[in-house]
Amino acid sequence: MVSLAEVVEGLPETGKLYLEDSYKREAESQVLRWIRETGRKGYLVLRETIMHPKSGAQPSDRGVLESVGTTFTVSKVMEYRGVIVHYGEISGEGFEEGMGVKMRLDWERRYKIMRTHTAGHIVDYAVVKVYGRAFQSQSAMHDVGYGFQEYFGEYSGDLREMIESVANEVVALNKPVYAEYVGANELGKKVFGAPNLGRLPRLDVYRIIVIEGINAIPCGGTHVRCTSEVGRLKIDSVEKVSNGFRVSYRILDA
Ligand SMILES: [Zn+2]
Repeated sequence: MVSLAEVVEGLPETGKLYLEDSYKREAESQVLRWIRETGRKGYLVLRETIMHPKSGAQPSDRGVLESVGTTFTVSKVMEYRGVIVHYGEISGEGFEEGMGVKMRLDWERRYKIMRTHTAGHIVDYAVVKVYGRAFQSQSAMHDVGYGFQEYFGEYSGDLREMIESVANEVVALNKPVYAEYVGANELGKKVFGAPNLGRLPRLDVYRIIVIEGINAIPCGGTHVRCTSEVGRLKIDSVEKVSNGFRVSYRILDA
């Protein structure tokens, strides 16, 4: 069993192309390390990648990486000390350091995750709007087409339908969604409506996701470019969990 610490030992941080352009479905890069685990399974590190790792609320991307004579099907993407590690199954000869690699994202899956994730930011806004107060978030999940936002504190009444209607108004307004990078000293001025400030790591620069006029939330995930791309949102439930409540939702295909 190989540990991630061994896989990334001595490697530079990976260029994270998905943070610059979440719509990039294909790219080329170079092999920095290939470690075979058992049989045809193994770990591959590239100089840069379009594949988002599993992190907190967002599930791992999937896709295919190809080099001359070798195809690698990625089933899991992980991040360790800033290095992105692709795990999967190989067919063909295997990789060597310095080899050129073409990567192709499982775009259908990723795009749905982008829509679900952006919907999570919209749910944050709708919850504040409907209950008339801010809540701290305790966790979230943005899976392929469905997810939840969990908050600390007591909520008054199951206002599922109102949350759904406010969220769908934001979708209909077709608000632009974009990333901004701000220094730690500007963070307080730039963010608004962000439920996760209490659990942010200490950084020099933060990436915040702005939904124009709606909220601006520190986040390292992938999002769509405008709220209409999320499509119609359905709030499945508002329910009590330990220390707070959970709002579960899904996105509906047109
Ligand atoms: Zn986000």
